[in-house]
Amino acid sequence: MTDIPESHPRYLSLKMREALVKGVEEGITSKAGLIAHGRGEMFDYLIGEETIETAERAERKAVERMLNAENPVISVNGNVVALVPGGIVELAERLDSKIEVNLFHRTDERMSKIQKALEQNGAEEVYGLDPKEKIPGLDHKRALCSYEGIYTSDVILVPLEDGDRAEALKEMGKEVITIDLNPLSRTSKSADITIVDNIVRAVPNMMELEPLEEEFDNGENLRAALEFMSERLRTLSEEI
Ligand code: ATP
Repeated sequence: MTDIPESHPRYLSLKMREALVKGVEEGITSKAGLIAHGRGEMFDYLIGEETIETAERAERKAVERMLNAENPVISVNGNVVALVPGGIVELAERLDSKIEVNLFHRTDERMSKIQKALEQNGAEEVYGLDPKEKIPGLDHKRALCSYEGIYTSDVILVPLEDGDRAEALKEMGKEVITIDLNPLSRTSKSADITIVDNIVRAVPNMMELEPLEEEFDNGENLRAALEFMSERLRTLSEEI
């Protein structure tokens, strides 16, 4: 693997790419996951690659909702495990949440590799490997889920999710929280709480932030994130 000097201006971004490429080589991340990351990177560029105020507010609300849930679940895929393998396990501990693997490109081999990676990072129980239930409205493989985890969850954190599944989970009556850098994605628009931040920042933030007890309006928060991006583009264009 190439050695990226810490002084490189795009050090963190390059480290993330390297982690995803390694994820593909190890059979954890799908090739399509690389493309999804590229879409995320573009929006990260627009917010200046740091946690913006609206994202921090959503992170705090997400912590509050997960802590008050009956059966909170964090759904993970190959990108999540490549980028924040330890972080997601620690976050599940803080939030007293189950972890379930759910893949768009599901294969038994990839499921078990992801399970192992999570266990190596301290996860005691990983759900989703022997699914007995289905999320209504999705095609077979993407619908599979465990009864104890996703199926009976009331609040679910689905980072880097695709729109169909986020919408299907909403249809099931669940409170859906997502981490998605694209405020315009279907997932972002259908979730109850959308954290427009990079998962590599959102997860450590959620380990430390105090829960937000105030009301939270996701539409308002998403509009504010888009406003932030527009304003920043305007400022940057004036600097050229
Ligand atoms: P949708 O189906 O919700 O309209 P999509 O087709 O873009 O959106 P996917 O490509 O399945 O959905 O999901 C990946 C989403 O995750 C993208 O919206 C992308 O912006 C976001 N994303 C990718 N990498 C990261 C990351 N590191 N942190 C946060 N979000 C990310």
